[in-house]
Amino acid sequence: MTRFKQYLSSIATANNLKDGIEWVFYPGMLLDSKSKWWGNFKTRHAAHEGIDICFFRTFDKTIRHLAPGTLVPAWSTGTVVNLCEDFLGHTLVVEPEYTAGGPTRVLEVFSHLAPCDEITPGTRVGAGRIIARTFDTRTKGSPLLSHLHVSCIEVASHIPFAALNWSLFPLREKVNVINPVFI
Ligand SMILES: [Zn+2]
Repeated sequence: MTRFKQYLSSIATANNLKDGIEWVFYPGMLLDSKSKWWGNFKTRHAAHEGIDICFFRTFDKTIRHLAPGTLVPAWSTGTVVNLCEDFLGHTLVVEPEYTAGGPTRVLEVFSHLAPCDEITPGTRVGAGRIIARTFDTRTKGSPLLSHLHVSCIEVASHIPFAALNWSLFPLREKVNVINPVFI
């Protein structure tokens, strides 16, 4: 796993965003925030389990947001261990190869996606490979802009891959949530 900053650069490169952009995060987009960054800006149902990537500032200081269908690269080289639904689109769970084999697994969770057809559980992916596009939230009439949610989590290795989904991820007694920003 490279640093979060490098992963952001890989998203910019994959989507031909110009050099010199600065990513912008509002408080509600950050790990453990209880606030929404959309709609009425009120309280989330649960503390945010990851970080939302959507806004960036261009060289002329304009704030823009990712377009629906933005290309989503894999962060680390690893294996897709699950593909499940989330409240907007789909979620891909990737196990980076260097963590395999211990009593716990560290996983990367990418949500609100339209995954590429060839990306299914068991697929090995290299860092930077395009695994999905961001889900077009307009198709569900959501007030949320199309964005990429990323979680880094540590869970017990005995949990079956199929159970690595949004029934499990909010359960903090079973999921150790790692702040991606500090990676
Ligand atoms: Zn999120």
